[in-house]
Amino acid sequence: MTIDHTHDPSLQSWVTSANGHADFPIQNLPFGVFGPLAGAPRGGVAIGDMILDLRAVHGAGLLDEEAQAAAHACIGPSLNPFLALGAGPRIALRDAISALLQEGSDERPHLLHRAEDCIMYLPAHVGDYTDFYAGIHHAEAVGKLFRPDAPLPPNYKWVPIGYHGRASSLRPSGAEVRRPNGQRKRATEAEPSFGASRNLDYELELGIWVGPGNALGTAIPIAEAADHIAGFCLLNDWSARDIQAWESQPLGPFLAKSFCTSISPWIVTPEALAPFRTAQPARPDGDPAPLPYLNDPADQAGGALDIELEVLLITPDMRKQGLAPHRLSIGSSLALYWTPAQLLTHHASGGCNLGPGDLMGSGTVSAPTSDGCGSLLEITQGGRAPITLPSGEERRFLEDGDEVILCARARRDGAAPIGFGQCRGRIVPAL
Ligand code: CA
Repeated sequence: MTIDHTHDPSLQSWVTSANGHADFPIQNLPFGVFGPLAGAPRGGVAIGDMILDLRAVHGAGLLDEEAQAAAHACIGPSLNPFLALGAGPRIALRDAISALLQEGSDERPHLLHRAEDCIMYLPAHVGDYTDFYAGIHHAEAVGKLFRPDAPLPPNYKWVPIGYHGRASSLRPSGAEVRRPNGQRKRATEAEPSFGASRNLDYELELGIWVGPGNALGTAIPIAEAADHIAGFCLLNDWSARDIQAWESQPLGPFLAKSFCTSISPWIVTPEALAPFRTAQPARPDGDPAPLPYLNDPADQAGGALDIELEVLLITPDMRKQGLAPHRLSIGSSLALYWTPAQLLTHHASGGCNLGPGDLMGSGTVSAPTSDGCGSLLEITQGGRAPITLPSGEERRFLEDGDEVILCARARRDGAAPIGFGQCRGRIVPAL
């Protein structure tokens, strides 16, 4: 994970909207799948307000052999073949695209589409989606609501807790989110009833894209785990808290979370994030060291990501009043108790085969402070302490028409700041 000429903060692009762009300057170059005004979905790279068409780049024959082979893996409607290639070809393609888009190189506007004219799709076919629980401040805050004396389960600091999510209901940013129906039961009610969730919530998470996989029955050593991670996105694990509370005994969430998970559509590569790598924060005194299969000096020294994560909310009334989205929280991915490599290695350690395009959620990322809670469950204390919005409205949980917007920014002195693009989702009424 080295810093090279593609990270040079003085680098500018002939795509002028990229220069100083909050998310997609030339130092980022994330991969996604888009549909242009006319034509089938294909791979692309976000650059400023534009998308570089990788099918067109491949067809133009502008790249050297290794980059051309990597571009060929991006010409179809999903990036699974590209994710399977791993770091070498991915870096070669990044290098070539950086050169292609740099100020001073031949300007080729015919390879670009205006992003606002394009439809974004999921970047890959997700064979499996797994959700972890690595946000320790979230786990503590939620645990306190139910078990004030022992908020964290006894296994928490030993094992990266996770469960298998539902891949079929993953949707890209902007897709509507239908309020789920399910069984829910208030404490005051004698019996459950079936109907629309009354406590709909979001969860702010980092998504981790799997690159090259492993064969069934084999593991991925922690020292090799980074080679199996193809990139990152934002992930909103929509959660129906009333359905969850009733159904998750003794197994985990089922209908409470299977109805939809939204992700930001761009895969931000490990290369783009190299300047924002940092040491995993030291564990508090008294915490156990990770077991040897999860403990790698290089991963501990530079395997964490320092990314600022923000959640915004806008309601139909706020739109009518012309108000800007209201910030619900701001925090950092450094609040994760496990590194992405530890999550991946643990996932495969039992012999489970991971595949290119599998997706892992980090778990809700909450800061230790009250301005950084990654869900309404924490912000409103399970609905007991409603928040007041700039429109004067109150919210305990999400109402129909509400839109949640997740954003991420990586910043560091001496590096060009980059972002992830938004992960948006608006609630539509239950069927
Ligand atoms: Ca979650």
